[in-house]
Amino acid sequence: MTMTRDEMLGWLRETDPARLAALFERADRVRHESVGDAIHLRGLLEVSSYCVQRCAYCGISAANRSARRMRMSADEILAAARSAVDYGYGTVVMQGGEDYGIKAEWMAAIVREIKDEIGLAVTLSLGERPESDLVMWRAAGADRYLLRFETSDPALYRLIHPALPGGFKDRVSQIRRLQALGYEAGSGVMVGIPGQSWESLVDDIMTFADLDLDMIGVGPFIPHPETPIGRYLADGTGDVAFPPLPPDEQVPGTAETAFKVIALTRIMCPDANIPSTTAIATLNRAAGRRQGLMCGANVVMPNLTPAKYRECYEIYPDKATLVETAGVCARDLRESFEAMGRTIGTGAGGRRHRGTIG
Ligand code: SAH
Repeated sequence: MTMTRDEMLGWLRETDPARLAALFERADRVRHESVGDAIHLRGLLEVSSYCVQRCAYCGISAANRSARRMRMSADEILAAARSAVDYGYGTVVMQGGEDYGIKAEWMAAIVREIKDEIGLAVTLSLGERPESDLVMWRAAGADRYLLRFETSDPALYRLIHPALPGGFKDRVSQIRRLQALGYEAGSGVMVGIPGQSWESLVDDIMTFADLDLDMIGVGPFIPHPETPIGRYLADGTGDVAFPPLPPDEQVPGTAETAFKVIALTRIMCPDANIPSTTAIATLNRAAGRRQGLMCGANVVMPNLTPAKYRECYEIYPDKATLVETAGVCARDLRESFEAMGRTIGTGAGGRRHRGTIG
């Protein structure tokens, strides 16, 4: 059972806790019926903080001179991937800035080793790479690719994600390209970007359904002081002029907004894999992850990045995982998941090829 645009808009604007609890319960039921009670764990590796893009929201933008840059070595990546097996995860996610110091062949060799020798599913999230790189990585065995379209509002997208000369104007066409190459495709949005309206959030959810996405990540936008949006919010300066919205139209960047979008997304895209994201945990360390899992989410991505590199990958300040130890054992999580009536996923936890990857 899906929803009309107006119903979604009504839920997004809803503030009554009792009514929202009913929405979250409904989404949790859909999650139970469509993807079951398993929570899939994906070990996240932040492989590089170099980036050629100049996204107005992101702390590792090329424009941020004070960002610290790092790139993991192949040996470090492979060691971390082996630890993911020990921790009981089925997938390793390699995410980074769009870093052309990451050569296509170099990454292909790493993907091949992780797939063939270590035996994990591989997800890549390395930005808007050329088609030939994506083809090579798919051939090397990469299963999935994550590329959030960030917002479905084209004017807002252009403001926050200026295209590089000759680069892509939007990410939806790139997501279709990934699907055509046989990747499981993941995407998602931030909620609470200045200038983002409730209406556009409904469009975002409709776009998730249209694209038939395999993974859908939603997190609150968290301002970073060394970015154009951060400066604009702090004192109105910065080189990006956001279209001011009336206060009741502007989406707040709260964990609650993210929960509403996760719940509606689960209802509209019942069998997608939906993470309870780090950005949510950052805003509510005590209960954020768990609440996300109770309103539609079925995936958690514990951070496996070596401690010495963590603070370089500062896409927003005070990330929840900065203080977490490298990796959380499935064993350690089992009890808390069972208390929620859930289990730990075994295997790769893919969508399209459920049970056949990895
Ligand atoms: N270079 C890759 C990975 C980027 S980091 C890419 O561009 O796809 C992954 C996601 O973090 C981004 O897609 C964005 O949605 C999110 N993100 C970046 N900056 C953020 C911020 N300030 N607050 C919240 N989320 C942010």
